Amino acid sequence: MKQQDKSILLIYTGGTIGMVNDPVTGLLKPLDFDHILNQIPELYQFDCRIDTLTFDPVVDSSEIQPDFWLRLGHMIEEHYHAYDGFVILHGTDTMAYTASALSFLLQDLQKPVILTGSQLPIGTLRTDGKENLISAIEIAASVDENGQPMVPEVSVYFEYKLFRGNRTTKFSAETFNAFVSPNYPLLAETGVHIHYNRNAIRKASPEKKLKLISRLDTRVMFLKVFPGLSPRIIEEITRIPSLKAMIIETYGAGNAPTSPDFLSPLKYFVDSGGIILNISQCRAGSVDMDQYETGHRLKETGVIGGKDLTSEAALTKLMLVLGLDISTEEKKLLLQKSICGEMRE
Ligand code: ASP
Repeated sequence: MKQQDKSILLIYTGGTIGMVNDPVTGLLKPLDFDHILNQIPELYQFDCRIDTLTFDPVVDSSEIQPDFWLRLGHMIEEHYHAYDGFVILHGTDTMAYTASALSFLLQDLQKPVILTGSQLPIGTLRTDGKENLISAIEIAASVDENGQPMVPEVSVYFEYKLFRGNRTTKFSAETFNAFVSPNYPLLAETGVHIHYNRNAIRKASPEKKLKLISRLDTRVMFLKVFPGLSPRIIEEITRIPSLKAMIIETYGAGNAPTSPDFLSPLKYFVDSGGIILNISQCRAGSVDMDQYETGHRLKETGVIGGKDLTSEAALTKLMLVLGLDISTEEKKLLLQKSICGEMRE
């Protein structure tokens, strides 16, 4: 492709964007990258160089595991100095998890890393994949008046909107606007022009060097609170020897039942060195365990607050922090403050 002053690395990992119908089963399955490139001749018109890399194997994003995030992180680190920006084609199902994970793994990132994909395969007449890919590349190659990248952070581009990656969540399996960012404004919106929300975009610090974190600890799980959740089951879960940390998904501003049957096993888990991070089942708003008695009692058991974290950001942040070589108290402090804009300050 064209050899101009800007260069973008396009990484294909799979997802609907590159899928075709298997003639035997009738099911959608991923195809190779050439298939995508052949469908978008427009890519050859960009006045920047676009190189491509394909993951092996390409997958439906439901197959993605933390090991994949580490490989992706290494891939970006390896090519970091050779490119001005990175665009990752990824299935939508776990895109918000991957975007969140990368935001934590790629510390002090100073270049755009944009994830995108589509709801309809690229070979389909009404596909949303073309616009998503073309605009993502344009944004990844854009610079400000000082020649610095416009969006030097991990983001998700979908259906005319650019979101901070670790604030994003998939909310629709049907409509083209598949993602939302309930607790953080859009980074950019595309129409006739691209409007950048410069106050919301992380500022570049060109003097900082990229540092890749290469360890995630997956000994974690979610516990969703619901009316009827059996104390016996909580007790059994909190005694699983390999479990090191839990994300408790509570009601509203971080509230849960106050009965001793419910709270005692949680206290046992924390007293035995476990970490419990409280996030809300509500998409918008924040956990505040000082607002209601029901939240405050959780705090008294040693549960810590995850403020307005999405589940995807909470999970990947927990895996990252658990994997660090620091004390449990330090881990708890780190979990409660923003590392890269994933939660309110
Ligand atoms: N199942 C697909 C995936 O996540 C869905 C998509 O890409 O939209 O890979």
